[in-house]
Amino acid sequence: MRRPIHVAVIGAGIVGASIARVLSMFEDFEVDLLEREVDIGWGVSKANTGIIHAGYDDEPELYPLRAKLCVEGNKLWHKWTEELDIPIRWCGSLVLAFNNEEMKILKELYNRGVRNKVKELKIIGAEEIKTLEPNVSREAEAALWAPTAGQISPWDAVIALVENCVMNGVRLRLSTEVRGIKIEGGCVRGLETNRGFIEADFIINSSGLYADKIAEMAGLGGYRIKPRRGEYLIFDREAEPKVSRILFPTPTPISKGVVVTTTVDGNLMIGPSAQDLAEDQREERANTREGLDYVWESASKLVEKLPPKSRVIRFFAGLRPEPTGGDFIIRKYDEVFGLIDAAGMRSPGLTSAPAIAHMILNILKSTLDADFKPKKCWNPYRRRIRRFSELTPEERSKLVKEEPRYGRIICIDKMVTEMEIIEAIRRGATTIDGVKFRTRACMGICQGSSCTHKIALIISRELKIPLWKVSIRGPGTEIGIGDVKSLFRRRKT
Ligand SMILES: Cc1cc2nc3c(=O)[nH]c(=O)nc-3n(C[C@H](O)[C@H](O)[C@H](O)COP(=O)(O)OP(=O)(O)OC[C@H]3O[C@@H](n4cnc5c(N)ncnc54)[C@H](O)[C@@H]3O)c2cc1C
Repeated sequence: MRRPIHVAVIGAGIVGASIARVLSMFEDFEVDLLEREVDIGWGVSKANTGIIHAGYDDEPELYPLRAKLCVEGNKLWHKWTEELDIPIRWCGSLVLAFNNEEMKILKELYNRGVRNKVKELKIIGAEEIKTLEPNVSREAEAALWAPTAGQISPWDAVIALVENCVMNGVRLRLSTEVRGIKIEGGCVRGLETNRGFIEADFIINSSGLYADKIAEMAGLGGYRIKPRRGEYLIFDREAEPKVSRILFPTPTPISKGVVVTTTVDGNLMIGPSAQDLAEDQREERANTREGLDYVWESASKLVEKLPPKSRVIRFFAGLRPEPTGGDFIIRKYDEVFGLIDAAGMRSPGLTSAPAIAHMILNILKSTLDADFKPKKCWNPYRRRIRRFSELTPEERSKLVKEEPRYGRIICIDKMVTEMEIIEAIRRGATTIDGVKFRTRACMGICQGSSCTHKIALIISRELKIPLWKVSIRGPGTEIGIGDVKSLFRRRKT
């Protein structure tokens, strides 16, 4: 038997995690998934709109990869969300037109969608719009209705993918930052990291905002990634009115526009803005007055009514990795054998991720001129953490009798129990944010002010680390400064 092909995938975002999952289906690969953060999915994949787009947005002539992979990805998500128990609402989207100019754009989008082979697209009039979405602005004259669009929580998707690929043999290496690429005789040999050298026959560069920097480490690339900031506002779960469809304006040349949608957790969300930042602002996730005002004004035009501003519980910003040329960059290099880019993953990167992963597999197949052997024991399934809040009263009583830690509510807003937090830690959470993204604790009205300390105590106990060392999101964000009483003790002795 030939030795396994060692593949190092850089970046545990939605793209890297999807690639690792697809490679884990075959006997031929030994896969390392490398992530510089202490947890998975904390890059671009953490802060975005979470829409599984239908696929009419992208011009096939200008952006062939975006156009093709979005539609293919949308189809694959139907299967993947079922296998991986990822909550999704296949609620459909409406692009709204308010005047003749915008009607023309709707028709262009429709024709583009047909060329991209998007199913069930339809242009509808004001009456039908109201039936589909009662809270839509009365001034909307027509809409492009795309029933195949869906709403997902992007971090749920990354967590599910990584849990599944680890179950299938992928080695996840957290807190591992790639700092160099070793090339010998025109072939990739491995990666220099803060944790030592990692051998690799192939390196998949799916490092989000830093993909150009990684390609440069091999003396390759020739493209730049620029951050484009998108800001959002999110309302508390009880805030009304909500929308049951995803509402878009007609798009601009740089963005699909500010969306009004309801998250899978039932919160109304509006955003994103689109502001180009300088290349060195790849960590600039601060919110701005202008950005938030723009989001509010734009969203107000799409609906009859937004909930009052006092019902906003959080704002946040995400950064799109905008590549030179605008299309996804998925390719191998002639100059160096073994480096493959999965870069420039701006929108619709989340939608396209499963299809991107299959495209990477095909590049490997054609490079090695080989057919890979499916693993007999590959397990496509993974179940998410059982949510106490979603159970019936009878199911809750039964569960508490079996495991009393389900009877202790830690996050009152989201009704998250101690046992769910323990389960999140068992599955890899080591920080407050790690618990938050796995359980929804801290995502309610109080945004963690009543439960953060309780979660910290559980993390400290379960991971056997001092309480003050528990962090929000890794080194530098610890909740304490150390054992302050030691100063007092020292003075006494
Ligand atoms: C505002 C906004 C809205 C969007 N809305 C949508 C949408 O509705 N639908 C849609 O389909 N797409 C959407 N997108 C696009 C989508 O979010 C991205 O395409 C996708 O998340 C990119 O995933 P990724 O895995 O390539 O990048 P990332 O999630 O950033 O993953 C890359 C990972 O690599 C790690 N990394 C970087 N450098 C190194 C290194 N040197 N060593 C080790 N690890 C490293 C990072 O820490 C990161 O975790 C949106 C994006 C934004 C910003």
